[in-house]
Amino acid sequence: MKPIIYDYTLEELRQWMLDNKQPTFRADQLFDWLYVKRVTSFEDMSNLPKMMREQLDDQFRFVALEEITRFESKDGTVKLLFGLHDQHAIETVVMRHNYGTSICVTTQVGCRIGCTFCASTLGGLKRNLTAGEIVAQVVTAQRMLDATNERISSIVIMGSGEPFENYDATLNFLKIMIHERGLNIGQRHITVSTSGIVPGMYKFADENTQINLALSIHAPNDELRSKLMPVNRRYPFDEVMDACRYYIAKTGRRISFEYALIGGVNDQPEHAEELAEVLTELLCHVNLIPVNHVPERKYVRTSRNEIFEFQRILEEKGVNVTIRREQGHDIAAACGQLRAKHMEKTTR
Ligand code: SF4
Repeated sequence: MKPIIYDYTLEELRQWMLDNKQPTFRADQLFDWLYVKRVTSFEDMSNLPKMMREQLDDQFRFVALEEITRFESKDGTVKLLFGLHDQHAIETVVMRHNYGTSICVTTQVGCRIGCTFCASTLGGLKRNLTAGEIVAQVVTAQRMLDATNERISSIVIMGSGEPFENYDATLNFLKIMIHERGLNIGQRHITVSTSGIVPGMYKFADENTQINLALSIHAPNDELRSKLMPVNRRYPFDEVMDACRYYIAKTGRRISFEYALIGGVNDQPEHAEELAEVLTELLCHVNLIPVNHVPERKYVRTSRNEIFEFQRILEEKGVNVTIRREQGHDIAAACGQLRAKHMEKTTR
């Protein structure tokens, strides 16, 4: 199988040109066709010599994703289910906010982390996506938005998968997204969310970017976190918090802590008190996420009053906190559920 052209950073494309005895400015032209003009074939790249277009076509694949279904919510959220060349399917979500349009991308087919509130992990990990398969989610969605002159202005890596278990592809994806000659997404408008893969957190801190880091914390202590997120047994709570402190010290940037509120499990006042204690004096922000109902699990949603009470306790202790606004609720599905339904259908 030929590699996807979207797998390559501009520097790698320049190297490809040099290896093929071509001037490097050709790579810049190619990059422009891919990310600014967003054409769908090498044939369309009219300022590249015909022979080069043929050679590119010979060596690289252009199409990485095939749209299987699309659901549009009343609030403007669009959930896209894409098919890959090997019959796997992935989800991508486009969200419209009053401050711009964002996209949530997937980095793996399935996930092996096993968070108990998540549908993406139910069938385990199938495989990593390549950088190009992650990039293609953004380019394909941007092409869809081009029709209405909208521009993707922010990216969250919060779809299926653990990005730090697919580190190199995720990093190449980021390099391509932030390149000023391409889509040119501002680093501060990109967030990478991890379940707490400690070595990846240190490595990412050392990359010296301005990209935001989010940690799925979901519990205020080791014991409860291990119950909700088996990954906590591999990388215990205290080690994860040490990695957070390192990231903050190294980058000077605050961390977002994602906290999915699960009725009767981690949403009680004592949990809020304990969380506030852990986060006091950390440069951070807490996002409270009322958990989505996953039919395969028995979790229930936290009541509105309890959500506000949780928020109040954190704020009282000086912790910055917001409640995540839910989007696309009417088009079914927490993250991973669209794909789960599709898998059910195709394996029947
Ligand atoms: S929440 Fe993220 S890390 Fe956890 S199982 Fe789901 S996709 Fe994997």
